[in-house]
Amino acid sequence: MSFLKKFKGLFHDDWCPTCNSEMNILDKQLFMLNETVSHYASTRNPTYFRENLLKVDKKSDIPAGIYACGIKTYFCSECNKKIVYVQVFLPVRDQEKLEDAFYYENGELNNFLEKQKNL
Ligand SMILES: [Zn+2]
Repeated sequence: MSFLKKFKGLFHDDWCPTCNSEMNILDKQLFMLNETVSHYASTRNPTYFRENLLKVDKKSDIPAGIYACGIKTYFCSECNKKIVYVQVFLPVRDQEKLEDAFYYENGELNNFLEKQKNL
């Protein structure tokens, strides 16, 4: 992977983390993390997200001091798979303070997200 591609990848969350191709967005959903700020421990454990995410419609539904979590599902046609991108951020007025960002490339959250759609 060239440095330039890697560098660009930092700013393009729609670039495949594996092959750097541009991915197609399939779906996106906003959640809140059912935990207060002081209790948030950075983790990329998918079980943590499955157990603590609550679906919300919009950012204003999230109480102050609670982390938001934006989840986008992409499809990379080069790798031929779904890739889930999770961003954890703290809404501060009209700003978003990014805390963590993870890619899940092996379907860790696919079933969870599928179920959320029908709630
Ligand atoms: Zn790819």
